[in-house]
Amino acid sequence: MDLKTLGWNQQFENEFESYKQESYSVGRVALEHKHMYRVLTESGEVLAEISGKFQYNAAGRGAYPAVGDWVVLSVRIEEGKATIHHVLPRKSKFSRNIAGATTEEQIVAANVDTVFIVAALNADFNVRRIERYLLMALESGANPVIILSKADLCQDIDEKIQETESVAIGVPIHVVSAEQNSGLEALSAYINEGKTIALLGSSGVGKSTLVNTFTGKATLKTAGTREDDDRGRHTTTHRELVVLDQGGILIDTPGMRELQLWESETGLSQGFSDIEEFTSRCKFRDCTHNGEPGCAVRKAIEEGELDAERYKSYLKLQKELAYLERKEDKQLAQAQKDKWKKVTMGQRKKR
Ligand code: GDP
Ligand code: ZN
Repeated sequence: MDLKTLGWNQQFENEFESYKQESYSVGRVALEHKHMYRVLTESGEVLAEISGKFQYNAAGRGAYPAVGDWVVLSVRIEEGKATIHHVLPRKSKFSRNIAGATTEEQIVAANVDTVFIVAALNADFNVRRIERYLLMALESGANPVIILSKADLCQDIDEKIQETESVAIGVPIHVVSAEQNSGLEALSAYINEGKTIALLGSSGVGKSTLVNTFTGKATLKTAGTREDDDRGRHTTTHRELVVLDQGGILIDTPGMRELQLWESETGLSQGFSDIEEFTSRCKFRDCTHNGEPGCAVRKAIEEGELDAERYKSYLKLQKELAYLERKEDKQLAQAQKDKWKKVTMGQRKKR
């Protein structure tokens, strides 16, 4: 399979250059088993393991390969096996924090170009939820596209679109109904050769149904194709990264599907109005909350009024914003900044 078809581009080529000179191969992770990875390469699929050196040097779980990652390999093609030596820098990533002795980051999908945020136009419609998924997309580095699904169940579509627009300035919004087979063609515009898409949205909004329309029923059936395994027996296998017939790559991992749960745990759902409130009470206007006297944020954390983790998420999103501003896409950055203001201001007004 052609690497471009799998999402390879100049940026990755540049990162790979030095490894290439040392005769390493490259591939994209399609499935993560325990300690094993199914990796798609130009010369076919291989079953890969992490090198001892990689394991030794890995700085936490987030350093390990995840579905969508490009990995530097030495391939033993006749065995169908390979060893993973490095993970190329990620263009975007969706991750969740695993609470343990220390909080660890687990990557659930990497190098996603476009994320479809799916929300159903039924009684569960909730613009705040869309807002939270948008923040997640913003954090990930993938471009968000909003899909309002189950249009057949909605009487006031225009109103819902307007509500959505108010929290998603500059973000494309598409209305679809899988039931009536309407609006789906517009989504093809995002499904192009070498572009990776993923879906985000609460359970029951119609993500699987959409995936079926992208992959086509036939492909879906063969997604669990029988193939020979090591022992020569037939077993069913699945991939969490698939190349679509029309071009484009779809990532659909259980981790991605669980992100919604994580999202409500972090407390992003409440917005950050409380933090902004503390900030406004700091003694100095330009307080960086790094130990200045009269800092209301530090005080709030010390006194347990403000959760340190929440403050960390807040800083993380701010950093992401700063990053977006540095990116060429000034217009998107401005839109995100406006939206950011709106999230915090909107929440403040409500109190
Ligand atoms: P997921 O949990 O997000 O993957 O949602 P599913 O794709 O499993 O869909 C949940 C339910 O909604 C299923 O019963 C689907 O048949 C139904 N559904 C999906 N799309 C539509 C639609 O456009 N209109 C209606 N009325 N139902 C839909
Ligand atoms: Zn302060």
